[in-house]
Amino acid sequence: MFKIPKEIINKIAEHSKKDFPVEACGYLIGIDNTVTDIIYMTNMDKSNEHFTFDPAEQFKALKYARKKGAGLIAVYHSHPNSPARMSKEDVRLANDTSIKYLIYSVADNEINCFAVDEKKNVSKIEIEEI
Ligand SMILES: [Zn+2]
Repeated sequence: MFKIPKEIINKIAEHSKKDFPVEACGYLIGIDNTVTDIIYMTNMDKSNEHFTFDPAEQFKALKYARKKGAGLIAVYHSHPNSPARMSKEDVRLANDTSIKYLIYSVADNEINCFAVDEKKNVSKIEIEEI
């Protein structure tokens, strides 16, 4: 179970719609499995099929989370025109087994949460709106 305030789910949707047709991306900050904050990131690829974080922004995000006594517990990105599922490329790039991966589909107005283990097995994690 991954707990996200409804307000933050709305912010992910808003960010995804604002950046459409480019993929929006960002971090969710929190403690254990509870999200407390969102950080909007720049998609340096400016693509509708993939994203890359800006390393300088990543460093700032990490510092911000630490200052709040929390961690970067999830990465989110949008799928402008495809379902809220991990693409092959998403799975390939998901190298952190300790965080969750959220995908918001603009086309379907749906959000899903996933975890990826060392063997690249993907499991869907239930989202609880809080
Ligand atoms: Zn993706």
